[in-house]
Amino acid sequence: MAEQTLMDKLVSLAKRRGFVFQSSEVYGGLGSVWDYGPLGVELKRNIKDRWWRSMVHARDDIEGIDAAILMHPRVWEASGHVSGFTDPLVDCRQCKVRFRADDPRLKGPPGDPATACPNCGNRGTLTEPRMFNLMFKTFMGPVEEQAAIVYLRPETAQGIYVNYLNVQTASRQKIPFGIAQIGKAFRNEITPGNFIFRTREFEQMEMQFFVKPGTDEEWFEQWREIRMQWHVDLGLQPERLRWHAHGPGELAHYAKAAYDIEYEFPFGWQEIEGVHNRTDFDLSRHQEYSGKKLEYFDAATSERYIPYVVETSAGADRVTLTVMADAYREEEVEGETRVVLGFNPAVAPIKAAVLPLTRKDGLPEVADRLYHDIRRRWSAFYDDSGAIGRRYRRQDEVGTPWCITVDHDTLTGETVTIRERDAMSQVRVAISQVPAWIADRLEEAGR
Ligand code: ATP
Repeated sequence: MAEQTLMDKLVSLAKRRGFVFQSSEVYGGLGSVWDYGPLGVELKRNIKDRWWRSMVHARDDIEGIDAAILMHPRVWEASGHVSGFTDPLVDCRQCKVRFRADDPRLKGPPGDPATACPNCGNRGTLTEPRMFNLMFKTFMGPVEEQAAIVYLRPETAQGIYVNYLNVQTASRQKIPFGIAQIGKAFRNEITPGNFIFRTREFEQMEMQFFVKPGTDEEWFEQWREIRMQWHVDLGLQPERLRWHAHGPGELAHYAKAAYDIEYEFPFGWQEIEGVHNRTDFDLSRHQEYSGKKLEYFDAATSERYIPYVVETSAGADRVTLTVMADAYREEEVEGETRVVLGFNPAVAPIKAAVLPLTRKDGLPEVADRLYHDIRRRWSAFYDDSGAIGRRYRRQDEVGTPWCITVDHDTLTGETVTIRERDAMSQVRVAISQVPAWIADRLEEAGR
């Protein structure tokens, strides 16, 4: 499949079937802001839930929090975002389009009269690079003045750092321990794009693991391993995943070591998650800027120290796009093209569709009862319109792993047909056993 076409197909399927819509579409849309529709919200939520379960519920040494988006403005001075979270930008005076100064399409220095604008092609129309802060600003309270500026957080991590002692004391954790959070972050990206890959409002799934200095490198390696395995268990094709190590020029100001987990998207290899050794940079800075001691006291050894932090930071939207791109396939079946989103059942937005073969002879009543039975535990869908083959295709296209057909034999034998999405194989299962059958399959898929 031509690579760009795959993205076009995904965007169009996402809209047609209710995964993702453009924000404020009736007004012509808002640049790179997207809304999740009925199926998209389920998919993303399942991914977030899976992350939360693996990070918080399945471990004794990680606690969850949900910090506010707005924080004290000094937080962003301490973190380095006010002075450092900037990208150099170039404007074209002719066509008014803005580029990153490191845009590979820029051939030559932007201020040079011979350099052409990548958009309109005019020469000598580009400005010198100017620094541009990526944080969204707003005002708190009734007066729009400098003193009232607050920022929409550009990462969720800082809400964790400033709370780490609160969490540690309240939950009686001992180092090493971690704090996990899922929440919105905002960045006024200069070149957003590729659908929900890079947006200005997005969700992060971040975990900060606090360790004793000197043990950080060991923990960093452990977390790299755990996070890569999480993506593999999610069902992503392992050959489409790889590590990218940040070289000295690439490392963020706070980091001692950083690795990105990259996925091979139709538009190339791109980061989906970062694992960073942030040292004691953030906590030391918050201690300095707030004037409050942020040391940990180790009662066993009577030592006091500022912990080092190993961070794992993934984008929920980016992982959602990854899961969709990875799952999309087209197959020839009996001379027709079948579109399938081959999701891991654990994250599929709809777990099962109940399909009465006809709308008469008492089949709808039986199907309806089964549908409600399934719906008590999982998202399910009821569809009684059109030929059964077409109904299967509609479910394949949104990644429903199981279609359950209620037919005339159900009335006599109390069994239904369960058709599996990928192999299109069918088994007959006693109607009373259907929920247990689904539960078993989901258990196999890691829920
Ligand atoms: P990039 O280089 O792609 O801008 P980054 O290195 O700035 O990413 P981090 O600050 O490490 O990213 O953020 C951690 C994760 O948050 C990323 O791996 C990505 O999944 C997600 N993320 C960051 N920026 C965006 C964005 N604008 N839209 C969607 N997700 C994002």
